[in-house]
Amino acid sequence: MSQPIKHNKTSLSFEIFPPKKEEEFDNIFGFLNETAKLHPDFISCTYGAGGSRAGKTIEIASYIQKELKIDAIAHITCVGFTREDLEKNCTALQEAGVNHVLALRGDRPKDMTDEQFNRREFFYATDLVRHLKTHTELQISGACYPEKHFEAPDIETDLRHLKEKVDAGVTSLITQMFFDNTYFYHFLEKARALGIEVPIHAGIMPITTAKQLGTTVSLSGSSVPKELADLIATYGENKEDMRKAGIDFAVRQIRDLKEHGVDGIHLYSMNKLKTTKEICAQI
Ligand code: FAD
Repeated sequence: MSQPIKHNKTSLSFEIFPPKKEEEFDNIFGFLNETAKLHPDFISCTYGAGGSRAGKTIEIASYIQKELKIDAIAHITCVGFTREDLEKNCTALQEAGVNHVLALRGDRPKDMTDEQFNRREFFYATDLVRHLKTHTELQISGACYPEKHFEAPDIETDLRHLKEKVDAGVTSLITQMFFDNTYFYHFLEKARALGIEVPIHAGIMPITTAKQLGTTVSLSGSSVPKELADLIATYGENKEDMRKAGIDFAVRQIRDLKEHGVDGIHLYSMNKLKTTKEICAQI
């Protein structure tokens, strides 16, 4: 592992998602009121690609921006957005006081055929970034992958595409979750060598249930180090022990990243208040 390099302020941010069930939707505002007390630098809200819930993302992002006075980032995807939809969405964002988006490609939803997926008007996130940059005043962030995106043949090719995305107008990047900081340090070194100079926020996902490994983590394509796999094997059956062990793992990961002076820690909160608070108390 590389040596600590600097000790500048590392920003802290959270990612949340709009609850799928209507009856759970109001809970998110209580979660946000509480997490606001942790003074994050920004909060980003996901968008379900291909769904019809862009309005929910905007509603939540607007609450973060206007009511909590915290910088909000609304996720937006190529998948499910025609040019016309995008225009409407950008107008709605503007009216809602949200001026920052995370421009993503999105993945193929289960109920969409490959043909429909490949017919999208904006093919890569970079195409979306170029369009937004030309037609709006929005600030634009993008996603990146310390262990490479699952479709990229190798990290070098993925990084070349990332450089194009940044050059198109992305002003900061948020990484896919990773559990071994070595991947992040190597990625950072390569990205900087290519001239990618924007802030890169390290995405940290606390693994607090054994189930997450088979769902979120396997979908992310991120590798699971032996230490984390062992921890799940040891504590996976006991809910509270697993939660504590997962928090401890995430806290150690974050402390190491902070010691290395990373630009930011982006916590995938999964809308879990207790876990988010406990992690923040320890970092
Ligand atoms: P891109 O940047 O378009 O890259 C996708 C692939 O295409 C990569 O392999 C890249 O190397 C390749 N590529 C790029 N440009 C070219 C080119 N010119 N020629 C050939 N290949 C190229 N999904 C959602 O649906 N909703 C969300 O809210 C959401 N939030 C996310 C937040 C973060 C922080 C991250 C990391 C991911 C998120 N995702 C979300 C998932 C994301 O949509 C997927 O990971 C998707 O597969 C890739 O999106 P991207 O924007 O990184 O794509």
